[in-house]
Amino acid sequence: MRTDILIVGSGCAGLYCALNLPQNKRITIITKSDAESNDSHLAQGGMCMLRDESDYESFFEDTLKAGHYENDRVSVEIMIRSSPDVVKDLLSYGADFQKDENGNLVFTREGAHSQKRIIYHEDVTGKEITSTLLKKAKEQSNITILEHTTLIDIVEAENVCYGAVIQKEDGMLEVVEADYTVLATGGVGGLYKHSTNYNHLTGDALAIAIKHGIALKDVHYVQIHPTTLYAEEDRSFLISESVRGEGAVLRDKNGNRFVNELLPRDLLTIEIWKQMEKDGTEFVWEDLRTIPEKELKEHFPNIIEHCKKMGYDVTKECIPIVPAQHYFMGGVKVDYQSKTTMEQLYAVGETACNGVHGKNRLASNSLLECLVFAKRAAQDMIKNMASVKRNNEIIEHVDIQQYLDVKKIQEEYRGLVKLEIEKSKKRGEEKCTIK
Ligand SMILES: Cc1cc2nc3c(=O)[nH]c(=O)nc-3n(C[C@H](O)[C@H](O)[C@H](O)COP(=O)(O)OP(=O)(O)OC[C@H]3O[C@@H](n4cnc5c(N)ncnc54)[C@H](O)[C@@H]3O)c2cc1C
Repeated sequence: MRTDILIVGSGCAGLYCALNLPQNKRITIITKSDAESNDSHLAQGGMCMLRDESDYESFFEDTLKAGHYENDRVSVEIMIRSSPDVVKDLLSYGADFQKDENGNLVFTREGAHSQKRIIYHEDVTGKEITSTLLKKAKEQSNITILEHTTLIDIVEAENVCYGAVIQKEDGMLEVVEADYTVLATGGVGGLYKHSTNYNHLTGDALAIAIKHGIALKDVHYVQIHPTTLYAEEDRSFLISESVRGEGAVLRDKNGNRFVNELLPRDLLTIEIWKQMEKDGTEFVWEDLRTIPEKELKEHFPNIIEHCKKMGYDVTKECIPIVPAQHYFMGGVKVDYQSKTTMEQLYAVGETACNGVHGKNRLASNSLLECLVFAKRAAQDMIKNMASVKRNNEIIEHVDIQQYLDVKKIQEEYRGLVKLEIEKSKKRGEEKCTIK
């Protein structure tokens, strides 16, 4: 198969990248699962944007403070400055965000934000954004989406990427020739025992990068979300930061508050673990009754509904919560145009690392980061299209036999990524175990 651009992943990063490429280019998006099953659809809280110039310094400082000042400052500046443009695009595609009676965007606040700067759609912002992007992508005749189709490897020679080997829905392997390949494979939560991520997100792009000597960055920076609903189920359900931003409190086994609920995620997680140890419990309690009932029902219908399904009425009782793996700050190292260290290979979204989050992501910065840097990847591809290298020899001589045992390859990939993360784990992270 030949395509101009192969995008691996149908989350918000992959889709928005596709929508920013020229309509006269053939774009193929592949996704390991169905087109909707990705973390982008799960984002609840919202997406940050620069409201006006007066918030620039404070937005910048909040991002750096959450990231322990290890952020790449240029990336942070690019992300913040580009945010109005991205929101403009989303609105033009038909995405719907909360507005006041005059039709102006309404902003909310989450943990570690000193100002209200987060746009949202109820508590299903990611679904609103990503389903809008998906609908738009499906309308474009130059974009093909292949569901249940998995990236098995890239095809490269002398540090230039010429395409990929994929496994299609029917189990057949196929070589795809592409001028550009974009890795938009999301996070690594599927490797963890407790994670808010989809199980099939196992860091495949990272494994492939390791295999081919493509640089990675900050792989030891794994974010644990402090508040997920305690349950013995596959994917941990997240109780969004904005619930605490709106006034929910955390309580110990005796019902007493024990922490400032608006601490950055990593610090709050440590405090919760400490409390669990002290109390000898597997969770602490979150109390949403401190939020006025009308506001609670208006802003968090999805959380209320899910808790109800799990047997909790949040208007009457506390819910048990526990920290779980949530976000991957590290990833395939990219420059400000989302280019990896291999020619003709880009990485965008959670799978990439441009240093914007530093050691710890500020809440609601990741949807924004995905979109801003996905668009930059598209713009860079457009700029360099005339100098694309092709290599029929390499494509025609891919030894497909080496990929026949896909299960074994996937096991090896999981092993490679786990090892890379384990090697560099830091204090506190050992409590969130890799499977
Ligand atoms: C519960 C939850 C709540 C969140 N809330 C917020 C929030 O409020 N605000 C915010 O900014 N961020 C939030 N985030 C983070 C944010 O949603 C993600 O970081 C972001 O959506 C990642 O987008 P992505 O496009 O990079 O990856 P994803 O949306 O996860 O998409 C990854 C895609 O890659 C595909 N894929 C993976 N491996 C392969 C392979 N080998 N072959 C083919 N396809 C593959 C998957 O099938 C999928 O289509 C939240 C995350 C979670 C889990």
